[in-house]
Parts: sequence; C-alpha cells; structure tokens
Amino acid sequence: MAKYMDQAKLTTEELLAEMADLRIQLEEANDTIQAIRTGQVDAFVLKGENGHELYTLKTADQTYRVFIEKMNEGAVTLNREGVILYSNSRFAAMVSSPLEKVAGTTFDRFISDDELDKFARVIGNGWEEDCKQEINLTAITGEIVPCLLSCNALELDEGMALSLILTDLTIQKNAEKQLQLKNDELAIAHNAAEKMNDELEDIVKERTSELLISREHFKLLANNIPQMTWTSLPTGELNFYNRQWYDYTGLDLQHEREYKFEDIVHPDDLEITNQKYNAAIESGNIFEVENRYRKGTDGSYRWHLNRAIPLWDEAGHIILWVGTATDIEEQKQQMQRKDEFIGIASHELKTPLTSLKGYLQLLGTYKKDVLPPTIKTYIEKANLASNKLQHLVNDLLDVSKIQAGRLEYQFERFDISKALASCIENARHIYPDNIFYENVQPDIIISGNAERLEQVVMNFINNAVKYSQDDKRIIITTERLQGYLRVSVTDFGIGMSKKEIGRVFERFYRVEDMKFMASGLGMGLYISTEIINSHKGKIGVDSELGKGSTFYFDLPL
Ligand code: ADP
Repeated sequence: MAKYMDQAKLTTEELLAEMADLRIQLEEANDTIQAIRTGQVDAFVLKGENGHELYTLKTADQTYRVFIEKMNEGAVTLNREGVILYSNSRFAAMVSSPLEKVAGTTFDRFISDDELDKFARVIGNGWEEDCKQEINLTAITGEIVPCLLSCNALELDEGMALSLILTDLTIQKNAEKQLQLKNDELAIAHNAAEKMNDELEDIVKERTSELLISREHFKLLANNIPQMTWTSLPTGELNFYNRQWYDYTGLDLQHEREYKFEDIVHPDDLEITNQKYNAAIESGNIFEVENRYRKGTDGSYRWHLNRAIPLWDEAGHIILWVGTATDIEEQKQQMQRKDEFIGIASHELKTPLTSLKGYLQLLGTYKKDVLPPTIKTYIEKANLASNKLQHLVNDLLDVSKIQAGRLEYQFERFDISKALASCIENARHIYPDNIFYENVQPDIIISGNAERLEQVVMNFINNAVKYSQDDKRIIITTERLQGYLRVSVTDFGIGMSKKEIGRVFERFYRVEDMKFMASGLGMGLYISTEIINSHKGKIGVDSELGKGSTFYFDLPL
C-alpha cells in the first residue's frame, strides 16, 4: 500500500497497468498453490528482489501430499495460536467453506460455543501427547458435524505444529441414533407386552376365581333347594345331578352313568317323557313334562313336574341345559280328590235337576188361561235358571268324564253348515242385543259328532258375548284351507295378552281381570279342546288385549 502511496503521482494509465500486472501475479500464485497441493510440482522459480530464485518444497513429498489431499478424513495443521496453517480439501468440505478461506483462520471458529472448553483441553493435551476425542464441528452453514479428532504434535523445519485428523462420524452417529430409536421402540413394545401379559394374568386369575366361586355357588344352591336339579350337554347327555337326586333315586355316581329313563320313570310316562325331552333338545325350546319317578328306597312312584331351560352363548349356541324336577305328588292327589268330588257332586245334582226340569215342563203345559200371567213369568224364569244349571252340571260331568277317559261319542257324516246355522239361530234367540254375522259356506260335509261340535261353537259364542262390552258384533266364519276346514268366532271385546293365550285352554283356568268380572268356572275351553282333539283337529285363538279375539278350530276334510 505504501508503495502505491509513494507513487501517488503516477498517471491513471500507469496505475491501470500496475493493477493488471498484480492481477496476473495473483492468478499465478493461486495456480502455483494448487499445483503444489495436487503434487504437480515439487519446485518452482520465483522472481524476487535478488532476481530469479529456485524454491524446492523441502517437506513436500509428492506421494504424501496427494495422499493427504485424497484422504477421506479432514487433515489440518495448527500453530501454537490455533491458527490453521494447512487444511486439506476434505476438511474445507466438512465445514462447508472454500479451501482458500480455511488456512489462516483460527480453528475454533469451526467449534460450537458449548464445545470450546472441551476443544481447548484437547488441543492443550495434544501438544503434550497424542490424543483422541469426539467433538462437534460447526460448519459455516450452521450444520453440526460430529467428528473423531486425533491430535499429534509435529516437529517441522519451521517449528512445532499440531496435526489434527478429523473423521466424520455423521453416518455412524445417525446409525447410532437410528439404533437408539429402534431400541427405544423395542423397549416400549417390550414394556407394553409385559403390561399386557400382567393384565392377562390378572384377568385369568380373576376369571378362574370367579369360575370357582360361581361353580361353588351353583353347587351350594343346587344342593340346598328342595327340588332335584340336573344339567345336561347340548347333545342331551346328563352331566350333573344335585344331592336330592341321588337321595331320591338311590343311584350313585357309578350307576348314574349307566342309567336310562326306563330305570326311574314310570312305564306309563316313559313315552311322553322321551318324546318331550328329545323334542326340546332338538328345537331348543323349554322342556316341560309331568311324570312319575321311582323312589330308590321303596320302589314307589311320585309325580314330578320337570322343567328345563337351555343356556345360550353369545353366538346363539346352547351351552347347557339346566333342569329341575319338583315333587307335585300332593297337588296331584288333591286334584284327584277334587275330580272325584266333582264327579260325585255332578251326578248327585243331575237326578234332582232332571226331576225339577220335568215338573217345570209339566207346569208349562198347564192350561194357559188357568194360570195368572205372573205365575207364567215365574215359570219362564225358573226354566231359564234350570237350563243354566243344567249346562253347569253337564260341563262338570264332562270334565270328570274327560279325567276318567270316558268322554265317548258316535261319529257320523253330517253337514256342519247346517249345524252352524242352527247355533247362530239359537244365539240370536238367547242374545237379542248382539249382532251375528254369518259368513258360512253351504254344504260342508264332515265326519264327527254334530252335538259335541255344536257344543264347542256355542261355547265360543257364549264367551264372545260374555267377554265383550260395547261392541256387540260377532262374526261366525268357515274357511276351506289346504286339507282342512276352519270354523271361527270373532268378537271385538276385551281380548287377552300373549301370556294368557297360552293358558286359557287349561282346566279351570280363568284370566284374572280386576276390571272385568264375568261368571264362569274355566271349563268350557278345556272341554272344547278335548272334543276337538278327539276329532283329530286343532283348537286355537288369535287375540289382542282390548281389541278382541278370534277362537277357531280346524277339522280335517
Ligand atoms: P269360563 O268362560 O267359564 O271362565 P272358558 O274355559 O270358556 O271358561 O274360558 C277360560 C277363560 O278364557 C275365561 O275365563 C276368559 O278369561 C278367557 N276367554 C275365553 N273366551 C274369551 C274371549 N272371547 N275374550 C276374552 N277372553 C276370553
């Protein structure tokens, strides 16, 4: 600069020529440095103040220079002040800096602030002895480059220098990081699996104890109820009996495996028991049958009510049948005594009733003008009452005949259309307030007992009148269906619930309705069922509470 100041008086042209000369010298210098670096030259001639001089590169051995330049590690030499004297291209690339800008700067420029202390310690150490340390370089782009730094003090002609070899650890560090990540994931998965395993163990323990409790619970319950209980597999194979069962039958566990229904069920009840049991197992419907079981101690039989219900799993398969057998011997005997009483009472009533009716008839035939009108009215009323009484006695007699298996009658071929017409005419006469719709086809010849079938139809009509309030319409219909004839009586009365529908055909069953009281004994539908059964027909009802009912029977044509 001083040189240019001294020549301040030079002309512009001279100055421009000087600058061009200097630019050429700079380019030459750069080329020379590049040539030395790549090992293209070992010596060069430089024009100095004392003319041309030959410079040989004393330390420069071409092989080493090329080797260091091509090395995959960064190589740097530092002086005592930490200034970079030499750097290979790899180091310059590592810190993302142009090579010409690396030499001459202090090395700690490429060390992040938080690593400076560590670096100072390593360098201090490196001057004393060879050492290695992992360190993070900071490129001028700000990128962190993890490195392994090896320090060796070198004794050069110019004096001591510190050589630094820097191995880029980015790939290893990334791999380590990935490995760590995978390890962490593995640890998390492992922990989750362990937790799940623990939870599963807890659940199994809990379920096992629940199962034990529920099994013990069931056993305790089963052994302490008065009924005999049992369970069976979906195939029907019996697999558990309670203590009462063994006490009653006298069977032990060994025999129980070999026993058959024949061994304990009364011979007369065997067929119905087998039939109902097999039907239930096949259909999955509730099993219910009354039968007599033999007592192990004395060989006597007692009546039992058997019921079994299936236990379903979530998929809709039967897992188990649970059954009970309740001793109903007492009730059966009471029922029998009641039947016997009904039989005797109805017989006893029949004789005086017949003579009462006979006398009333005689009174009716008395000369009309002899009797005052009031007496005639009384006779009519007495006749009505005695007819009602006769119906009742007839029903009672029928019930006891059914019980004794003696409800017998002749079958003949007859036109049921005519029988129905006479029932409707009769009904119109007895119930003048009701409206009867006749929906009957003509000429339907069937085989049966006309009197008994009329009894069934009249029972339907009597009930239709009795169990209707405001709506007085009653429809009597015949329908020819596939192979059979359906006769039905429809009313628009009180109707009944589904639960009751299943029971109204039982003996003495009456629907308990607090709001609607009607006289009756619950015999009519029971007798009707027996009559229709003996005609190989089917009796039934469709009904809806508050809307009305249709009672019907089907007879084979
Ligand atoms: P009873 O009428 O003498 O009580 P039934 O055997 O004829 O006996 O009928 C049994 C029961 O069925 C009746 O008590 C009644 O509750 C119910 N029932 C019968 N017919 C009808 C009907 N048409 N509408 C509603 N309930 C009826």
